[in-house]
Amino acid sequence: MNRKPESLIRPIVRKLHPYTPGEQPKVPGLIKLNTNENPFPPSPHVLEMVRRAVDGRLRLYPNPTADRLREKLAAYHRCKPENIIVGNGSDELLEMAVRAFVEPVAALRHSTNRSKHTKVQKSKALVQFFEPSYSLYPVLAQMHGAIQNPVQLNPDFTMPSVKELRARGRWDFNAALTFVTTPNAPTGRGIPTSALDELCTATRGVVVLDEAYADFATEQALHLALKHSNVVVSRTFSKAYSLCFLRVGYFIGHPTIISALHKIRDSYNVNGLGQIAAEATLEDLDYYRANIRTIIKTRDELARELTDLGFSVIPSVTNFIFTRPPRMHAAKWYEALRDRNILVRWFDQPVVRDYLRITIGTPEQMEQFLRVVRAILARH
Ligand SMILES: *Cc1c(COP(=O)(O)O)cnc(C)c1O
Repeated sequence: MNRKPESLIRPIVRKLHPYTPGEQPKVPGLIKLNTNENPFPPSPHVLEMVRRAVDGRLRLYPNPTADRLREKLAAYHRCKPENIIVGNGSDELLEMAVRAFVEPVAALRHSTNRSKHTKVQKSKALVQFFEPSYSLYPVLAQMHGAIQNPVQLNPDFTMPSVKELRARGRWDFNAALTFVTTPNAPTGRGIPTSALDELCTATRGVVVLDEAYADFATEQALHLALKHSNVVVSRTFSKAYSLCFLRVGYFIGHPTIISALHKIRDSYNVNGLGQIAAEATLEDLDYYRANIRTIIKTRDELARELTDLGFSVIPSVTNFIFTRPPRMHAAKWYEALRDRNILVRWFDQPVVRDYLRITIGTPEQMEQFLRVVRAILARH
């Protein structure tokens, strides 16, 4: 018998709209400002430690719990290794959080024998997040068979206060899992830690503060993960520490929450070279702090220049800016820049389709970017 392969796939997977990552084209001379990668390489020390590890030992499994890295991270963040879990990028941990803390809708049905759920039961199956924020969250919810609760940010992309959220009635303070991207992506806006503290106090389920860009920001919320038992902070070596390729991210939170995640983790989820590179990164932080300062300075200069050219720029505390361009629609700008070998990100989604997200490259790349922008403006 020859079954239709379509029929072998779970309906949930058949219907799934997968996450769309930014393109990784290999065009010579392309200026790549579309995926928030760091324009600077890892430090010479990190490269040396990775090179030294490449020998016959590649046949061995890596440390299953990334012990040395967790100890170093604990010392750096003044907590205990029990507060930390390392992932194959922070994306893996975000996915694990959904599996560990959220009931699939089908499980609810089974437990009640009724197709209508009470509000309390529905909250157990809820993945909640602001819109716009990281576009992976809705995909994770769909994949798990959970319910999504996207809640609009204010029109200027600031976060509504707890009082405003209560008044508007859309926020579920009992949601099993809430993701907050802070600073936010793709908008680049910072969120005051005091506002996050208030939100985490009022929200009773697990709250993941996704701090992928915290190193570029003025405020960090990491201490909230050590203060509230329901709060987890997510960090990554990808963006500020130039390690996208090796996939290392981590969560910090209450030991009970963290150990639940360890239970559902793949035995060897973090590759050995990634562990070594991340450890070496923590031994060389001055190198990265200097790069981060350069990126921040370049970002602020770019924002000023673009504002002078008529772009409307959302204030950024990240390594990218979110901007509404003048004269032509953002989609046209995306094409015009692409034609001139500059790749930025344009999201064809409501609320954000009038904007471009531009990753901060080296000062030289951003000068070239501005030259191209001026040339496009001169023709339109
Ligand atoms: C890049 C990014 C991540 C994923 O980081 P990895 O550690 O590379 O998986 C998570 N959250 C946000 C908001 C990001 O922008």
